[in-house]
Amino acid sequence: ARAAAAAQSTGPGRTADGHGIPLLANIGGPKDLPAALENGAEGVGLYRTEFLFLDRADAPGHEEQVAAYRTVLEAFPGGRVVVRTLDAGADKPLEFLPAAAEEPNPALGERGLRMMRRLPETLDAQLSALAEAERDTGAYLQVMAPMVTDAEDAAWFAAAAAKAGIQHAGVMIEVPAAALRARHIATHADFFSIGTNDLTQYACAADRETAGLGRFQDPWQPAVLDLVAASASSTAEAGRSCGVCGEAAADPLLACVLTGLGVTSLSMGASALPLVRAALARVELAQCRAAAEAARAARGPEEARKAAAEQLPGLA
Ligand code: PEP
Ligand code: MG
Repeated sequence: ARAAAAAQSTGPGRTADGHGIPLLANIGGPKDLPAALENGAEGVGLYRTEFLFLDRADAPGHEEQVAAYRTVLEAFPGGRVVVRTLDAGADKPLEFLPAAAEEPNPALGERGLRMMRRLPETLDAQLSALAEAERDTGAYLQVMAPMVTDAEDAAWFAAAAAKAGIQHAGVMIEVPAAALRARHIATHADFFSIGTNDLTQYACAADRETAGLGRFQDPWQPAVLDLVAASASSTAEAGRSCGVCGEAAADPLLACVLTGLGVTSLSMGASALPLVRAALARVELAQCRAAAEAARAARGPEEARKAAAEQLPGLA
């Protein structure tokens, strides 16, 4: 059967034995909403707001931000919408934000939340636009900080969100230090979402912008799976949800492995939703767990993929 024939474009994400894994969309702005809705997204797991700030000489004003955020929130009445606050720097440079200095290693420099800590008025303006956009929509807004490194970062972000009147603030796990210390970060975060693109880059010390680093840029690296497992188990102990919103979630086989590792939702580019939904519907949670264990026992990403596929026949 053609892959498309196995795709499933509606219904909540769940395994064959009924374990629910909400399937959410990654979006860059309102223009991505039609595809998210057509492909049955249960909400937005990652709204990359930096697209609103790209390629312009000034930051978007309050009204412009409120309008964009409200359009997204209104598309999912009653559903959750996770809005990531501005993730500038490194692979996402912005013209109008003053750089701290020439950085020899931008990926290891002042990016994401680090930049907002130097420019808090930019973050405060965004949070206040988000708070206003949420008003009267009945949507469930969750704001999320990128590039959080430690509990101190998370506490700082939670305080900024609370000051803006936003109830739900969480963090991305993209830095290995945060994955290892998720238990401590959980005191200051309502939810977690693992960014496997950056987590792979930092776990394997392999620049995501440099071509040809091969297996070190592969989220199937067992070390990355170990970090996901550590994050999922310690956040669960703390009573917090822990999704994945990196590209890894869009790979149907890896989505099943992530489910087996204990992640609680999967967010991806909308076009990947039907195949991931169909894959989950064909496997049981115990099989996902066996596949996750087999993948973690492998020596490298190729071996991990093969080991998982053996536990999940018919998916690869
Ligand atoms: C990630 O790092 O996995 C992620 C989802 O964020 P971005 O790709 O926007 O850095
Ligand atoms: Mg990232």
